[in-house]
Amino acid sequence: MKEKRQTNRTFRLLLLTLGLIASVIAIFYVMSDDDVLTIKPLALNVRTKPGTEHPVIAQVHRNTNVIVLDEKNGWYHIELADKTSGWVAGWLAKDGLSGPVTELPAVITEDEVLLRENPADKGKKLTTLKKNDTVTVVLEKNGWARIIADNVFGWVPSHTLTPSEKGIPTPEKQTPLYVNTAELVVRTNPDLESRGFLTLKYGEQVAFAKKTKDWFEVTVADGRSGYVRPWAVSQSKLTEDSYYGIVPMAEYTVVLDAGHGGNDPGSETNNGTVVEKEVTLSTAQAVQAELVSYGFNVIMTRDTDTYIDLADIAAVSNQANADAFISFHFDSYDVPNAVSGTTTYYYHDRDIDLAHTINKFIKSTLPLENRGTEYADYQVLRDNRRPAVLLELGYMNSDYDASIIVKDSYQEKVAKAVRKGLIHYFNGG
Ligand SMILES: [Zn+2]
Repeated sequence: MKEKRQTNRTFRLLLLTLGLIASVIAIFYVMSDDDVLTIKPLALNVRTKPGTEHPVIAQVHRNTNVIVLDEKNGWYHIELADKTSGWVAGWLAKDGLSGPVTELPAVITEDEVLLRENPADKGKKLTTLKKNDTVTVVLEKNGWARIIADNVFGWVPSHTLTPSEKGIPTPEKQTPLYVNTAELVVRTNPDLESRGFLTLKYGEQVAFAKKTKDWFEVTVADGRSGYVRPWAVSQSKLTEDSYYGIVPMAEYTVVLDAGHGGNDPGSETNNGTVVEKEVTLSTAQAVQAELVSYGFNVIMTRDTDTYIDLADIAAVSNQANADAFISFHFDSYDVPNAVSGTTTYYYHDRDIDLAHTINKFIKSTLPLENRGTEYADYQVLRDNRRPAVLLELGYMNSDYDASIIVKDSYQEKVAKAVRKGLIHYFNGG
């Protein structure tokens, strides 16, 4: 009897201890870093669903703690302090070096900060900023912030500033404001649940009326008034130059596919010295460098001389839920030197807009004849569930084309054309 009671006590003690350990583990689990995320970029867009095609409902700033509820295609489902939830680009939240900033008031946090012409430690110095100076951030890219200070554009390391607690300043009545997101819904009330009666596109203009809570009341072109979020409009006019310079592309995922590779060389030049797989890779890498410098999230199907099964190429795009997929190729024709020029191919109807937009810039930027956009049944396009195009950027077996397409200068022009095309495409241009 005595012995049994002792056993019972020991057993209860054991249970209690186990219970305690379990609770401690549970608490640690709930509190673990995996679930609580501290936002590192200066700003992140919070969207209704995982993907840039879904509307922005809020922005979160650096050092905000959010709870991660779920993950999908690299996007995090987060809950904010006020219990609203939405999706942010996970790769931006994680690396913390780039963000889709539009016009964010920020304060310099270090004694002396040099404003530079370019995002580099050796960039030309424009002026010196002092602690507590207020500036406007328009873009954050690779750890640098592009800012406006006293009407001068320049770059500072983004760790030298912090979002201003005062928030976005209230403009004077009738001040023109320009839409700085791809699409902006104007609502009947200062409330996300209220009806949107108009959708404006990037660069369109409204007039400021008054500030109500976290919303701006604005007047639209036909005289009606409605409500927009302050961070979705800019006071500075978006010129063609600023359009390419400050449009925040950080949330957009682009998959680049260098055609052929490994034991599949593709076509070759008439003298047999250059094979297609080499030119597609160096061209795709030039485009990659250009897009990364504009803050895009770029995924390469290959960046070495390897063969990738055709069936696996579109899968990369589908898996990443890419905003655009671009495959790079160079053409060949039965008769050498008979044909010259570039062609942009699409397969699905949803690809046509992307094809036309990119081709417009290929036509205006590249020295070769533009053969237009065309339908073609390529597997990398057919299997793609995301907007996809295949670029044939010149004929390998045209001596004239071959002498041009191997040059760095040509591939850099391709990179610029693709970058401009994508920015226009994503902004509904
Ligand atoms: Zn090819």
